[in-house]
Amino acid sequence: LDQRVPLSPARDEVRELTIIFNQMIGRLERAFAQQRRFVADASHELRTPVAVIRNMTEVALTQAKSKEDYICALEAINDESDRLGRLVSDLLALARVDEERMPLDSEPVRLDFLAADVVDSMASFAAEHGITLQTGTLQPATVKGDAARLIQVLMGLVDNAVKYTNAGGTVTVAVEACASHVHCSVTDTGIGIAREHLPHIFERFYRADPARSKAVGGSGLGLSIIDWLVRAHHGAVTVESEPGKGSTFMITLPLMH
Ligand code: ADP
Repeated sequence: LDQRVPLSPARDEVRELTIIFNQMIGRLERAFAQQRRFVADASHELRTPVAVIRNMTEVALTQAKSKEDYICALEAINDESDRLGRLVSDLLALARVDEERMPLDSEPVRLDFLAADVVDSMASFAAEHGITLQTGTLQPATVKGDAARLIQVLMGLVDNAVKYTNAGGTVTVAVEACASHVHCSVTDTGIGIAREHLPHIFERFYRADPARSKAVGGSGLGLSIIDWLVRAHHGAVTVESEPGKGSTFMITLPLMH
């Protein structure tokens, strides 16, 4: 597939160079294809809320007969504008990531304090969805990084955990340190993720259940941004999940000594 330039039969430098050249062209082609796909997906995602807003504006202008009709149309417009706003800020974040224009601080951060703060600040959001948000074990752990970005990562994981858990469920944030690393986990008792989707959920625009994701206001970009931010902190995000039982997203970061 990558054979752009035919290989010379002689086992010489030209042959070696040809192999390297062909590999590079292959990589470039794949990168371009990915970029085209991204633009197509992004345009599609942007078109949907814009179409809803146009449609509801039309309804309000031509069909609304009562105050309730207006309010209903305006609420739909309001929701879709929110979606559009979130989508645009996610797309901008990814554009910065791609251009490597996402500067990160490198300061000592107490991950256990940060986790407690995130739980505090999101407790009422969780309660609105009928979810108990709590801290589990919180062992003292300091990592080197950007506190604001790490808060963004944890908030994103808690936001998903709440979105994909039915009312009555529980979301637990824990921090456990070992000799060289710290594991920060967000565990929910939610709908879980089927095995076939697991390898893909960190991909841009990937959604295990597009209908449910749309209903909860998701675009499929959150985890790809989280994954990038954690890698930029020399860490990794992993997931374990069982459909119907729940999921655990785990961030592993090197401890600062
Ligand atoms: P979205 O905006 O759709 O939530 P994300 O990138 O944050 O996008 O997540 C990608 C997909 O992974 C979601 O659409 C959902 O199918 C799945 N997912 C993420 N977090 C969870 C979770 N805690 N429980 C179940 N499914 C999840």
